[in-house]
Amino acid sequence: MSGHKLLFDGLKLWTSGRSRWISRLHDGINGRVQACFSSFSPKVCIVGSGPAGFYTAQHLIKARQDVEVDIYERLPVPFGLVRFGVAPDHPEVKNVINTFTQTAKHSRCSFYGNVNVGRDVSVEELQRAYHAVVLSYGAEGNRRMGVPGEDLAGVYSAKDFVGWYNGLPSCRELSPDLSCETAVILGQGNVALDVARILLSPIDILKKTDITQPALEALVDSQVRRVLIVGRRGPIQVACTIKELREMVNLPDTRPEMVAADFEGVTEAVKDLPRPRKRLTELMLKTALEVPGEKEQERRNRASRVWAFRFFRSPVEILANPDNNRTAGIRLAVNRLEGSGEGARAVLTGEVEDVACGLVISSIGYKSLPIDPSVPFDSYKAIVPNSMGRVQQAAGLYCSGWLKTGPTGVIATTMNNSFDTARSLLEDMDSGTLDVSAARPGSQSISGLLEKRGVRPVTFSDWEKIDSVETSRGDATGKPREKLLTVEEMLQLARK
Ligand code: FAD
Ligand code: NAP
Repeated sequence: MSGHKLLFDGLKLWTSGRSRWISRLHDGINGRVQACFSSFSPKVCIVGSGPAGFYTAQHLIKARQDVEVDIYERLPVPFGLVRFGVAPDHPEVKNVINTFTQTAKHSRCSFYGNVNVGRDVSVEELQRAYHAVVLSYGAEGNRRMGVPGEDLAGVYSAKDFVGWYNGLPSCRELSPDLSCETAVILGQGNVALDVARILLSPIDILKKTDITQPALEALVDSQVRRVLIVGRRGPIQVACTIKELREMVNLPDTRPEMVAADFEGVTEAVKDLPRPRKRLTELMLKTALEVPGEKEQERRNRASRVWAFRFFRSPVEILANPDNNRTAGIRLAVNRLEGSGEGARAVLTGEVEDVACGLVISSIGYKSLPIDPSVPFDSYKAIVPNSMGRVQQAAGLYCSGWLKTGPTGVIATTMNNSFDTARSLLEDMDSGTLDVSAARPGSQSISGLLEKRGVRPVTFSDWEKIDSVETSRGDATGKPREKLLTVEEMLQLARK
């Protein structure tokens, strides 16, 4: 490369993006040298601004001083399930937002909210504009129970119920009827426990959280006094973790109500379990079988609400009331276990049992959905088929997060799998498998397309306007934030 060409490239960078040039100076000596010596930056686009999107972006930006990352998000607000999934009474989990904000504000990262990929812009269009596209759009559907009566009034998916109390605009109208005494939750994962806890928590606790005002008001009037958390297998197979179980055990004004017979053989099996499962099972055994001390007994006697695990039960049918217009109960098949340990299988015994209840919440897992016909999708596993985050048979296309692995794992798990995807992408850049030798227009061409289609993206500083209104509304009522509940209101504020 001649000295003239170098000088010319440097000047081109200076004139074409002064602010980016200036901020590159902060990236350190290496970054400066790299930026001077290349005439353009590899451009990567990420679809989805949940933990997967942000952790993928963070790794790419940190690992190479020249990569530019644009994040496209369907909603006007960022952070995915950290905002719309994580329980309102777990504010410490939401601290990851601070790290994501740092990434979003990096000079080589841009956020484009209010852009629904697959509808407003296709994945093929993104692929033409960028050197690489990473799909990180999560798992926005839910597994269905596939039983008669599933669509009756009074039956909700945990996904919608959680979305409702967390202010997901599409769940605003849910207004679940909480006028019944008994609620049944199907599934024994952490989402099931989140839902049970929110249904049973004292209002004094909830009112200091960022739970939405309509949800808080509905919970003030709630008649739900008993929550059964139903699993198809046994105590050794529950999917929740110990911290969440401990929160249930210690939840003020509630007492556990287990069936001792469900724990037959568990005491003997516990010693052979791996450590985390062992501690979880011991806590369950203690809660179910041990005679509590005097103080705990008093606490339990005073409790006005009850929670319980029911084991070895699968949903068979949601039972309707006499008018056939809402749920009045659930028919459960009684199971036995075949095999042992975490891999044991539930097998029907042929027996069934009816439980009266006015609210059924199905918490048997989330599910990714295809967003664009051009992207390979494994409908059976409900993921984008990939190896180490490289989408199979689709050069330049990657995936991370729940879309890559399926809907399991906490934020830390998602972080690791997103870093892995970023590593695959960087390896491909370095090896030449991913061609970055010619410039790509990136957001310039996508902005043009969106404008033609009447779509106006929300920038990260627009989001910060929404954020500051939400937090100041929260200040007024003693909450960390009062979320805006409609896309229209979010857009209105963003554009002020
Ligand atoms: P998501 O967080 O779902 O992010 C996907 C993003 O993509 C969203 O912002 C979505 O709006 C966007 N998107 C979707 N479609 C499109 C499109 N077509 N175009 C553009 N953007 C799109 N983990 C913990 O560690 N602690 C917890 O307390 C905890 N609580 C949880 C509570 C619930 C109810 C759930 C379901 C999960 C919880 N988790 C928790 C797990 C954690 O939320 C996940 O590990 C993580 O959010 C997965 O990240 P993701 O980015 O793959 O998906
Ligand atoms: P999950 O952990 O996979 O639990 C799903 C539950 O549904 C299991 O009990 C499962 O039982 C049951 N189930 C699945 N299919 C069923 C069917 N057809 N019939 C009856 N039961 C069925 O899923 P999740 O609770 O949605 O949580 C998703 C992820 O987010 C998890 O990794 C979780 O840890 C994480 N999360 C974390 C937190 C937190 O850290 N506080 C909070 C919420 C969520 P089987 O085991 O028998 O399949």
